[in-house]
Amino acid sequence: MTDADQDDLMEEGRRLFAGPVAFQLSAPRLEILPPADLPEVAFAGRSNVGKSSLLNALTGRNGLARTSNTPGRTQELNLFLVGEPPVLRLVDMPGYGYAEAPKDMVKQWARLVNDYLRGRATLKRVLVLVDSRHGLKPVDREIMTLLDKAAVSYQIVLTKADKIKPTALAAVTADVAEEARKHPAAHPLLIPTSSETKAGIAELRAAVAGAAFA
Ligand code: GDP
Repeated sequence: MTDADQDDLMEEGRRLFAGPVAFQLSAPRLEILPPADLPEVAFAGRSNVGKSSLLNALTGRNGLARTSNTPGRTQELNLFLVGEPPVLRLVDMPGYGYAEAPKDMVKQWARLVNDYLRGRATLKRVLVLVDSRHGLKPVDREIMTLLDKAAVSYQIVLTKADKIKPTALAAVTADVAEEARKHPAAHPLLIPTSSETKAGIAELRAAVAGAAFA
């Protein structure tokens, strides 16, 4: 991508999230999602990774996405419509990897992905959130492999980048990127972000616009 293309995408991302964003509905696991009539970008990550904060920063709306008090308990897909009329749906997936038995969470996740996301032609990308301080955990790798198998395109977003020094952030970014390159469905570029400082949020908006409309 040229710099001019990236500039265009940044502008498209900015415009996309400058308009209205509205909660659409919570879909419990075994219920039917609304018709696949819009491009969708989904957000996934371990509980407490900073997913709600990132969704709020992305959309510029505090309180749009709320954390459940009991991590790992929320088993709904929360759907948000971007634009009026809507042009994009954001899908907030339940956090994984909280339970002592991560295998169970992965199994639940596998079911979710298989029931809802696999074969949903409008799902353009899953953003897999990873805490900058921790890098990839075994459960993240399992999720990545699962998305590889489902052939769902995904991209890793590092969260809470403000919590570590720039040198440490550069190191974790390089390590995770190297590992992502070995995964067939993973996007090669990572996006380091901070919901606190808003670093990387404009890039994230551009990535969402690119994934949804390119
Ligand atoms: P979720 O469970 O993945 O939805 O995580 P939350 O968005 O609720 O965030 C979990 C905790 O991390 C909260 O205490 C947030 O305030 C904190 N947090 C989230 N994002 C950031 C960030 O970018 N920087 C810092 N310093 N803290 C963050």
